[in-house]
Amino acid sequence: MPTFNYSRAVPVRSEYDVIVAGSGPAGICAAVAAAREGAHVALIESAGAIGGNLTVGHVSPLLGSVAEGTMYDEIVKLLSGTTRDKAGVITRNGREMPLNPEEAKIKLTKFVADAGVDVFLCTTVADVIKDENRLRGLVLAGAPCGLFALHGNVIIDATGDGTVSALAGAEISIGRDGDGKVQPCTLEFMVNGVDESVAISAWGGSDPVKLPSGEEYRALCKRMCADGVLPSNVHIVRLHRTGTAGERSVNATQINDIDALDPAAKFDAEVELRRQIEICYDFLVKYVPGYENCYIKSSGTTLGVRETRRVKGDDTVTDEYVEQGLHSPDVIVHNAWFLIDIHNPAGGGQAEGFAQPAQPYDIPYGALLPVGIEGLLTAGRCISGSHRAHASYRVMAICMAMGEAAGVAAALASAGKTTPRALGAKPVQQRLLSLGAKLFD
Ligand SMILES: Cc1cc2nc3c(=O)[nH]c(=O)nc-3n(C[C@H](O)[C@H](O)[C@H](O)COP(=O)(O)OP(=O)(O)OC[C@H]3O[C@@H](n4cnc5c(N)ncnc54)[C@H](O)[C@@H]3O)c2cc1C
Repeated sequence: MPTFNYSRAVPVRSEYDVIVAGSGPAGICAAVAAAREGAHVALIESAGAIGGNLTVGHVSPLLGSVAEGTMYDEIVKLLSGTTRDKAGVITRNGREMPLNPEEAKIKLTKFVADAGVDVFLCTTVADVIKDENRLRGLVLAGAPCGLFALHGNVIIDATGDGTVSALAGAEISIGRDGDGKVQPCTLEFMVNGVDESVAISAWGGSDPVKLPSGEEYRALCKRMCADGVLPSNVHIVRLHRTGTAGERSVNATQINDIDALDPAAKFDAEVELRRQIEICYDFLVKYVPGYENCYIKSSGTTLGVRETRRVKGDDTVTDEYVEQGLHSPDVIVHNAWFLIDIHNPAGGGQAEGFAQPAQPYDIPYGALLPVGIEGLLTAGRCISGSHRAHASYRVMAICMAMGEAAGVAAALASAGKTTPRALGAKPVQQRLLSLGAKLFD
């Protein structure tokens, strides 16, 4: 690709103790946690609303669990208070919490504003300000105002894509060993007008739920896929309750082999996945009892990206952590739990037959510290982990708890005029424990 050199004076708008890039489940918790520690915090978000996959991605339900006493518990309370159909709410014991993305936008916006965080919407991280290997701030592209910069003592990369870390020169891995393929992208949508007296919900390809005819729903989906009614890599049309009667969140569309780090490729995916939304909707109306009169209520306004960069850290959440339930003396999230849920990077269905079991495991502080870079923490799906471990810790409950820990660490480092690496895990653990988080058995 040809290049050109470019130079201009960029206004430095402000100085912060902590700058959080990305306002998904991890970034929101990071920003609020840091602000509650007394830090002056900026939260940068390229979309027009905060929440990441939880809101603009239309991802529902909130999955996964962590030990009690983290900000995840607070968010569950905050968001379950918004659902009207209380009977439909399955709480953390069921490890599935229905979400309403529109109500979540309202609640999460207030949650962040109440904490006193300065939020910059429609603003994209374009570059980093670096002093040798020490991050000092970010260069931002604000949609309405162009380039500006913020200086920060500690930066948290909660972009999901690990963009800040990549710009800072961190070591990056992408995809599975061998061929580097990543999990497919999906555009989720919601339907309303479902007849609850007969309509099923279905959480995935291992769900044996039956239709009123007695046929298993997953068998119907498979048959429809084989007959060409559903797209060839849509093996299951997942139908999740949202907490509102008559409504389902539909996780079905799928595209493989898209470079989700290329903005132009994102539109190619959008074209295909919006075509698939129409096909999946027609399937529901024609073949699934209770869905005859449903209508498409809304859909994600951003491509649902499951997997891109993983940033190499001082420590790594390996396959063994997740499969054997390993614990670490440097734990900052305890008893993280979710299946190893690898949507097939090379076709339909799951990569390993079905989602594989996991044991409650720890996330060590070092997995949030990019090797060789100072003044930077990661949080959320871009932390240091293996491809298979990522397929577990990427769920939103675990990302929230990581975000909180990163926010506390960043605030402590800034207040102590040190870096997150020099700070070490111990002070972060002490503060999380005093906030009520359980870190050890
Ligand atoms: C289709 C799909 C279905 C899923 N299903 C579930 C599910 O049912 N339950 C569950 O718990 N999890 C599910 N997940 C996983 C989960 O949603 C994500 O892994 C999780 O949201 C990751 O949180 P995060 O905060 O790391 O990143 P994200 O939620 O991706 O948030 C990152 C934020 O950073 C912003 N951003 C990115 N780059 C920049 C930049 N350069 N400058 C400024 N802002 C930037 C983005 O706009 C976004 O708001 C699903 C994921 C997908 C894609």
